[in-house]
Amino acid sequence: MSVCGHAAANRLIVCSHIIEDGEPIHTVFHETDGEWQAVCEHGAHDAPSEGRVICFNCFRERYPEFEAVSGLYRGGQATVIKSEPGRWWVQPIEDIGSVQ
Ligand SMILES: [Zn+2]
Ligand SMILES: [Zn+2]
Repeated sequence: MSVCGHAAANRLIVCSHIIEDGEPIHTVFHETDGEWQAVCEHGAHDAPSEGRVICFNCFRERYPEFEAVSGLYRGGQATVIKSEPGRWWVQPIEDIGSVQ
């Protein structure tokens, strides 16, 4: 079940720190299998219990900054550039830091 209550065909997995603690998004992943994930900069995000499911539409509404990377290619990750608000650093996904 998603946190927004929608049965989402298009969904993201977001860490609980963003959804429940109000932490800002730090990195967005578009996995090669098509799955989207978003995590904050805290924690290892290696526990399944840290993952929350939210539908794409609600995520976009709640986090307008995601719009800039909503077209991220599969296999890519985008990380916020703190010194340049609104800008993201895009690179191929590394095998770290994602919610499994
Ligand atoms: Zn987190
Ligand atoms: Zn929703």
